[in-house]
Amino acid sequence: MSIERCIYRSYNPNRKPSHPWPSWHNHTGSYPRFSFCPTAGLSIARYERELRENPDVWECFAITDHAFSIAIPDPSKCWPHNWYEDESIPDFFRETGATASRIKSYRDFCKSFSDGNNFFSGIEIEVNLNGRMALTAEEMDGYDLIVGSIHHNPGAPEDWVERHFFQFKRALSLPCDIIGHPIRHMNAHSSKENPLPRELIDETLDLVKEAVVAIEINAHYQQLHDNVLLLQGAYERDIEIAFSMDLHYPEEFGNWRYFEDVVELSEIRYSDLKLFKPKRRASPGEIS
Ligand SMILES: [Zn+2]
Ligand SMILES: [Zn+2]
Repeated sequence: MSIERCIYRSYNPNRKPSHPWPSWHNHTGSYPRFSFCPTAGLSIARYERELRENPDVWECFAITDHAFSIAIPDPSKCWPHNWYEDESIPDFFRETGATASRIKSYRDFCKSFSDGNNFFSGIEIEVNLNGRMALTAEEMDGYDLIVGSIHHNPGAPEDWVERHFFQFKRALSLPCDIIGHPIRHMNAHSSKENPLPRELIDETLDLVKEAVVAIEINAHYQQLHDNVLLLQGAYERDIEIAFSMDLHYPEEFGNWRYFEDVVELSEIRYSDLKLFKPKRRASPGEIS
């Protein structure tokens, strides 16, 4: 994965923040590496520095490391294409006690920074081929928010629309508050000249509306024209919007410009959007 591909360059080089932005889905890469994909420099201290130095840009960050890399501490075994198909992998780390110890460390980690104001805690989740999550619903209790995402979409490439709806309905069935990067897995079928069909986005949003969850505008990989349609459709349906940087690298902190561009191109005022706010209890140390 190239960092360069994740850095957004606005069509307006003089872009200034029109208001502070939240980012409801982000990762950390510092020790003990609760997500394996980000670089080590993406630590809580780095997020704190960003808030301190750019108060006109940032409202808050939620840290939502991957459930599979919390549960499976070996990076070579935790990626979706491994653990999705081999249930002995999560079972092995559960049996050794490694998963329980990581869950405790992640709770302690989240307690150390979450304040319900500038910093929120969460987890990004998905299911394997059998519909199983890497962590149980009880193990995900007590965080501010849960993001449900699609990271692996196996099957016949020509059935990409059917596969999207199959995976999307599974994501909607998860105990999550936000659907993460809802259209990223279709980026191979989209370009500026030929964005995703409006009806595909409409049908996707109808499902989101029915499930009463928030939808994400995700800045990690950019699909500008698709995200404009997504935002417009979500606004028309009164669906909650979660603006999420999905940060993996410190170099991506400038990607707030993507949010500015998506909102500007949508011709909807930010203040008219129904914005996501966490509704869960912000005490990751205590399980009800
Ligand atoms: Zn993700
Ligand atoms: Zn993510």
